[in-house]
Amino acid sequence: MAIPAQGVGMRIGFIGLGNMGSGMAANLLTAGHEVIAYNRSPAKVAALAERGATAAPTVAAACAADVVISMLADDTAVEAVTFGDHGIVASLPDGATHMSSSTISVALAERLTAAHADAGQVFVSAPVFGRPAAAAAAELFVVAAGPASAVAGLQPAFDAVGQRTFVLGEDPHTANLVKLSGNFLIASVIESLGEALALVGKAGVDKQQYLELLTSTLFGAPAYRTYGGLLARGEFEPAGFAAHLGLKDVRLVLAAGEQLEVPMPVASLIRDRFLALLAGGGRDLDWSALGALAAWEAGGPKPG
Ligand code: NAP
Repeated sequence: MAIPAQGVGMRIGFIGLGNMGSGMAANLLTAGHEVIAYNRSPAKVAALAERGATAAPTVAAACAADVVISMLADDTAVEAVTFGDHGIVASLPDGATHMSSSTISVALAERLTAAHADAGQVFVSAPVFGRPAAAAAAELFVVAAGPASAVAGLQPAFDAVGQRTFVLGEDPHTANLVKLSGNFLIASVIESLGEALALVGKAGVDKQQYLELLTSTLFGAPAYRTYGGLLARGEFEPAGFAAHLGLKDVRLVLAAGEQLEVPMPVASLIRDRFLALLAGGGRDLDWSALGALAAWEAGGPKPG
């Protein structure tokens, strides 16, 4: 393994400085790691370079490291930077690790595991729970799976970006499946909370008071607090997590269900609700706007 012992700063390539990646990469710097950062749109690298990162002009340049972390939008983006003549697989040194934190399909995680093994490299899936504010505050929850020695070696990186790490075994795709299942549950909360808020809201009940009641009694979970607040305030811009990425995740949940022959009727319904949101112009709104569809259908304002 090319990863230094715990406690020693690592040399980390970081690919993908979007809403999540920018905060994660900054926290790796804060924790004392060396960061070589690449982003498709180079302008986003400048802010990180001011904080001490090395700007990588290409994916290959970011791979001159012990570990390369990717935090990209979707399967297409991860495929674009991983495969091909100048991608991560072609560029990462022997024995080095690709840690993938993007929310990607189970099938792609399996493909990445095989491709990196064939190239003499290691693949670890480490998707995260938490929105951009949690990423900026190093308060993510990391869900990791991969070869035990590689996962152990990455602990300083997990600690730099998150508040707690859950290790789910040696098969990387397990972490992706669990992450997707969690996002399915969040989307279910957004939809059902949106319907409940539409109901009481149309009858004139104060939404904030209603949420206070819910979250102080039987529904104290962070998902109800965070998304209830966004829904009650109608705060869908700027998107912390864009609706089109939410649709991506529910599609990936359904693909995993199909592969395992697990019917998920609620996930199918939520997929259609996301399609309605996107068809109504909500592609780039926060995915919590899903929950505003119910009020719209009840005669209220269009989300966004
Ligand atoms: P984002 O703000 O849209 O950033 C996406 C990143 O992917 C950007 O760096 C973008 O580069 C890059 N990218 C997109 N397509 C690409 C391509 N074809 N080739 C190369 N780079 C490409 O997304 P995000 O909110 O940070 O989410 C990143 C990942 O984390 C997603 O998988 C998401 O599901 C997951 N996630 C998000 C949240 C959240 O609350 N936002 C929470 C947990 C997990 P450009 O800057 O050039 O566009």
